[in-house]
Amino acid sequence: MKPVDSHVHTRHSSDGRDPVRDIVAEAESKGLYYLATTDHLDLELKFGGNKTPIPWKHIDLDAYYAEWSEQADALAAKGSPLKFRFGIEAGYGENVCGHYVETLAKYPFDVVINSVHFVDGWDVYFPNAFFFKSRRRMYGGYLDNILKSLDAPYEYDIVAHIGYVTRNAPYINKKLSYSDFPDKFDAILHGIIERDKALEVNTHTTLFPTEEILRKYYEYGGRKISFGSDSHHAELCKDYAKTCELLKEIGFTHFSVFTRHCEEKVPIE
Ligand SMILES: [Zn+2]
Ligand SMILES: [Zn+2]
Repeated sequence: MKPVDSHVHTRHSSDGRDPVRDIVAEAESKGLYYLATTDHLDLELKFGGNKTPIPWKHIDLDAYYAEWSEQADALAAKGSPLKFRFGIEAGYGENVCGHYVETLAKYPFDVVINSVHFVDGWDVYFPNAFFFKSRRRMYGGYLDNILKSLDAPYEYDIVAHIGYVTRNAPYINKKLSYSDFPDKFDAILHGIIERDKALEVNTHTTLFPTEEILRKYYEYGGRKISFGSDSHHAELCKDYAKTCELLKEIGFTHFSVFTRHCEEKVPIE
């Protein structure tokens, strides 16, 4: 087995805790083949007027890159087989794409995750985003934003955690099913395939996307998937074996991992 994890937060994310050194140690102890740290870059919070109800510390990219480089150098010096890569989770905002183009060009990212966290200007992690808004409006708006994000004008590799909007949603029927918005789901899944991006399989809380959506993606010809624990604290490769079993049963044979945006296919075992 060659476990991979392409979505991991360090203390350089406002909601992360671990020094890069601790994450590398965890990866080595768990025998990972590939690890990318991907801290939050939220330029829509900085420039786009989007909001969270808590103060959100903006990432210091120089400090993040310095700490990542130090650990990458240490791994190289001891001849470690771990493929350790430098990534970022870019939180999409349609009005700040220019800022992303500029900022992402300043660092040698191996992998860029394209994420949607906001609907109507509020982070859907927090319940206040949903106040007085219908399920259709929020879930539909969320899927619309993902569709727009596929045309982000900067290089990205992975489309993250489709379904995130449901995580803390207050609705009685919380689940987001294909039948709720078949046209939007079709546009997104075909859009990912046409653009040759990887669909992320995210195990942070529940499985995102759901098995139903993963099966649709496969049925439409989607083969490119990425594994992300979205660990914020010592949860690398969460539910890895169980998730691999499901993915193999659907028909997937490999995870895509990225180095300087070049894909490597790693067998799902
Ligand atoms: Zn995210
Ligand atoms: Zn994340």
